[in-house]
Amino acid sequence: MESSSDNTDVVTMIDLLNDEKELSDQAYAVFAGSDEKNCNGFKQRQALYSCLTCASDVKEDSSKAIGICLACSLNCHDKHELVELYTKRNFHCDCGMKDGSVTCHLDPTKTKNGAHGNSNNKYNQNFSGIYCKCKRPYPDPESSSSDEMIQCVICEDWFHSLHLELAGQIPPAAESYSEMICEECMKQNDFLYDYSEFTVTATNDPSSDADTNASKEQAATKPSTSSNTEKKEDDESFDKSVVTKRMKLSDDICHRPKNKENTKSSLTHGSAAFWKGPWREKLCKCEKCLKIYESLNISFLTDMRDTTHFYEEKAKEKEQPASAMSSMEAALSSLPRVQQIDAISSYNNMKEKLFEFLQTFVVNNQIVQEEDIHRFFRNMTESKDNQLPGTPQHFCR
Ligand SMILES: [Zn+2]
Ligand SMILES: [Zn+2]
Ligand SMILES: [Zn+2]
Ligand SMILES: [Zn+2]
Ligand SMILES: [Zn+2]
Ligand SMILES: [Zn+2]
Repeated sequence: MESSSDNTDVVTMIDLLNDEKELSDQAYAVFAGSDEKNCNGFKQRQALYSCLTCASDVKEDSSKAIGICLACSLNCHDKHELVELYTKRNFHCDCGMKDGSVTCHLDPTKTKNGAHGNSNNKYNQNFSGIYCKCKRPYPDPESSSSDEMIQCVICEDWFHSLHLELAGQIPPAAESYSEMICEECMKQNDFLYDYSEFTVTATNDPSSDADTNASKEQAATKPSTSSNTEKKEDDESFDKSVVTKRMKLSDDICHRPKNKENTKSSLTHGSAAFWKGPWREKLCKCEKCLKIYESLNISFLTDMRDTTHFYEEKAKEKEQPASAMSSMEAALSSLPRVQQIDAISSYNNMKEKLFEFLQTFVVNNQIVQEEDIHRFFRNMTESKDNQLPGTPQHFCR
């Protein structure tokens, strides 16, 4: 322990709270896009939970699942066993609308027989707490390895990066891509291989690694500008899209890339794909292609508001009222820890550890030095890397 007699570098509680705020902001981004007080029924994207207490047979048949919104998880399914599903698209809260569910306290107009539009909800194994091709829970009590999980933007299931079909390639660095599509979804939507020039493949080229690291910070908030070359490319294609729009008035020309020989990235047929920046903007929107997307039920790909990136950015824009944090904390602490989102677990973990840490100074009658705090957060970061597979950035960009 360093000397406590100096009066330099004494850390105030404000500093501590600011440090803590960074972590709480991460947790806030997941929930702020969703309403914690009102059940809004259908949302293009919302935080979602699966209630295992109400839907006890979900493990045998995922269509029996009961997916509920954040507000209903707190108000109608309090103390029930819930699976956290992060966010899902185009879902109507099932609370009070399916066999087994409790009555919805927040929206009593929702009934089991009412025509309120939860019939288009899609359910997968995640609703019973099972993920990936290996069909394991998360976190996996029987696995000590910390392979990160990545969400496929089409089926919305989560995959261990090592369980994806990558045709011998290693998974690319999380900062280098914005979205992933698993091999099954790629095969079902075969035309996507024509767009492989907008995917990234991991290489052992050290210069590309350096580039990736340098732009890491930037990529976390703005995946579209992860490198200068890419930005230039975007500018060019932006100009092209203006031209495209003008041409569209007179002629509906298809811009789906056809000649695979010319593509910069070689994506092996049958493998999963990691997509660069705002790749969805590159998808052709001619009449014929739009019809293809519709027939494959993937029209959401052409809507940028569908992305988790958009959801989180929108959440960050919202002003954080002083009371929001405390009510969110209450919300978090009332949730069963069935499947913990990393940001939240590290946030709660950090708070607990911080109090323990500060307690040692009180007991020993010492002043907290700045170095002590740095050491605390350094230790937190190290233990976080060891314990937790991935961060929300890996999941959602
Ligand atoms: Zn609801
Ligand atoms: Zn329930
Ligand atoms: Zn409800
Ligand atoms: Zn797996
Ligand atoms: Zn998929
Ligand atoms: Zn087209």
